[in-house]
Amino acid sequence: MQLSTRISNLTGGGSDGWDVFNRARAMIAAGVDVTELTIGEHDIRTDPTILAAMDAAARGGHTGYASIPGVRPLRERVAARLTERTGVPTRPENVMITPGGQSALFAAHHAVCDEGDTALYIDPYYATYPGTIRGVGAVPKAIRTRSREAFQPQRDALEAAAPGAASLLINSPNNPTGVVYDRATLEGVAAVCAGHDLWLISDEVYDTQVWEGTHLSPRALPGMAERTLVVGSMSKSHAMTGSRVGWIVGPETAVDHLITLATHTTYGVAGFIQDAAVFALDQGTALEEKVAAPFRRRRALAQTVLASQNTVVPIPSQGAMYLMLDIRATGLSGEDFANRLLDAHHIAVMPGESFGAAAAGHLRVAMTIEDMRFADALRTLCAFAAEQV
Ligand code: PMP
Repeated sequence: MQLSTRISNLTGGGSDGWDVFNRARAMIAAGVDVTELTIGEHDIRTDPTILAAMDAAARGGHTGYASIPGVRPLRERVAARLTERTGVPTRPENVMITPGGQSALFAAHHAVCDEGDTALYIDPYYATYPGTIRGVGAVPKAIRTRSREAFQPQRDALEAAAPGAASLLINSPNNPTGVVYDRATLEGVAAVCAGHDLWLISDEVYDTQVWEGTHLSPRALPGMAERTLVVGSMSKSHAMTGSRVGWIVGPETAVDHLITLATHTTYGVAGFIQDAAVFALDQGTALEEKVAAPFRRRRALAQTVLASQNTVVPIPSQGAMYLMLDIRATGLSGEDFANRLLDAHHIAVMPGESFGAAAAGHLRVAMTIEDMRFADALRTLCAFAAEQV
């Protein structure tokens, strides 16, 4: 039986960029001690206090169908959080709770793109972006950024891509680069969106992981609240990746339609998970900082290691749980380097190419293992790079 073109072509064909990752997993399964610096998952688990709240909620009976837009207390907490962080007055009616950021990204594109519309995104990109766009029947169009510009999208490139497009998806703090968009970049984004009547989908799932400077939400820029859908998640901020709880924040009319979409797709998020999320948000920034602290420490360690060599060039990054390293001095592609490093030293990192052509000749290193082992692996990576020159 024939399946739909839409689902058959979701990945767009070709390599899905996970070859090194899959090889590493196979080696681990075969008993090899691989140092895993590939995926963006914390090395701590969900805090026991959050689990206790989840347990209490489930045992207390919150196991039936939950309110589809999200339980009122959670919508209120998220609205308050955004109001506080961005200065944009945000009401619970501007918030819909989703099963994680990924489903929010899908729903957001569904809400703003018609069949065949062009949806813009920035290269390098989080691996699911083009497939998410194809999944709603839109056509993904990448806007290249440059390593030497710290992968900040430039106004002229945005202008060139914008005519006729329906939406622009950005992500700051950024996966895979760790870059936090500065005010000038975001003002350029806002001007292009306003000038070409684009919706902005702003993926802010790493907003609690900023190591230098501050996170600025483009929704806070003049005129942007009416054309921006913010995607957020408890996954990264509270080490709740498996709980599947996130949100979309946007204009009330858009949220109304998104609730109708949820009624026909997800049917909401488990009530006891939402109650746990309310508890987690009530702990304030202390818990978020506790979850972010290991990455902050490892980034500092990485800076020391990287400063003592000159083959690997780090992209100046200020956030998220990743480092982007330029290894073009070795003459190898990111993929060749990552494969050789895996074979020679059993260290697994992601080739930049997995995140788009703009990151060719780069590596993404996830800072998701214990500090000393992380620093050792980075030292080995740098020494290995120097040997290739
Ligand atoms: N956006 C980005 C940039 C991500 O890195 C991730 C997860 N790796 C997500 C969205 C989705 O996260 P979740 O669905 O767990 O909220």
